[in-house]
Amino acid sequence: MSQRPIYLDCHATTPVDRRVLEAMLPYFTEHFGNPASINHVYGWEAEAAVKQARETLAKAIGATPEEIVFTSGATEANNLAIKGVAEAYFSKGRHIITLQTEHNAVLDPCHYLRSLGFDITFLPVRSDGLIDLQQLETAFRPDTILVSVMAANNEIGVLQPLKEIGSLCRQHSILFHTDAAQAIGKIPLDVEELKIDLLSLTAHKIYGSKGIGCLYVRRRDPRVKIAPQIHGGGHERGMRSGTLSTPHIVGLAKAVELALAERESESQRLTQLRQHLWQQMSQLPGIHLNGHPEQRLPGNLNISVEGVDGAALLLALQPVVAVSSGAACSSTKTTPSHVLMALGRNERLAYASIRFGIGRFNSLEEIDRVAQHAISAISSLRQPSAIGCS
Ligand SMILES: *Cc1c(COP(=O)(O)O)cnc(C)c1O
Repeated sequence: MSQRPIYLDCHATTPVDRRVLEAMLPYFTEHFGNPASINHVYGWEAEAAVKQARETLAKAIGATPEEIVFTSGATEANNLAIKGVAEAYFSKGRHIITLQTEHNAVLDPCHYLRSLGFDITFLPVRSDGLIDLQQLETAFRPDTILVSVMAANNEIGVLQPLKEIGSLCRQHSILFHTDAAQAIGKIPLDVEELKIDLLSLTAHKIYGSKGIGCLYVRRRDPRVKIAPQIHGGGHERGMRSGTLSTPHIVGLAKAVELALAERESESQRLTQLRQHLWQQMSQLPGIHLNGHPEQRLPGNLNISVEGVDGAALLLALQPVVAVSSGAACSSTKTTPSHVLMALGRNERLAYASIRFGIGRFNSLEEIDRVAQHAISAISSLRQPSAIGCS
């Protein structure tokens, strides 16, 4: 019997939790109505389910239901936040600040805006992956309209100090957006406490389905304006047109609800698994931890391995463990991870990296098997006889 590799790539995506699927199913078949149909019970049922989901999501982040705009995921939510603010506030200013280590779904909209004449500051990070708050404040200008800093990094898992960033932005009347795709359900997130004005979410990183997410858009103190990026029937108070996908929205809310309910116990369990993996891996010489050792997602371990070729390393791991060396969307590229380069790693170490993403369905036994295999794979790749044999 051929066994599939152990899945440790939870930053790329996660399987749908059966409880999420169960919640979604009736909305594909029985309750299939269009939530915008106001003349019959099919529409009302769907609308009631969407309303309930909106309330759950709002409550999860300390917002109100009217502040939730459904999107196709975090990429779209980031695009809507960044381009939407840029378009709505360009008469006030054209300067935006973000980090070099952001996801491409933030970096690319920023590059696009730059081509339209906006001025973008891509702040460097410290060698542990965290923002330098002093540098952030120094970068503020009278024409700065937006700061976009992710809550948790998708490669190295580091958690940015959202509260401090939020306070600084609020003091200077600059809007604060955070991409919380990796953070929701894993760390506490309250938009009031953290002074967040826009926040992006997606379901498929937390055991929901692919193709659904949302953007939180603050309605008071301050009231944030965003220009829609998809025009049509005026859904989502005109901010994002398109028929709402009731089953996926119900699933998103269920996924968030479950993640929050199990957050504390699951955090502890994942932290233990990650520490166990690190303890074993770090017994080898020449293993470097990427990102801050504590200020990171419980299930994230990212290491660089000295003395091996990055491609050969991934190939050797493949039969036993499904991992990647960086973001899934950039793993087809031949350039090293922009995140690891921003930490100051050299190209070779940036290539020879492994991102372990441990999740809800992984066990201690699996972690042990992965560690054993990774250690022997690295050791044999380091044998002098292996050099030049590929
Ligand atoms: C996965 C991810 C995205 C993209 O989300 P999609 O829903 O797949 O579009 C954006 N930002 C971060 C940090 C992510 O991890």
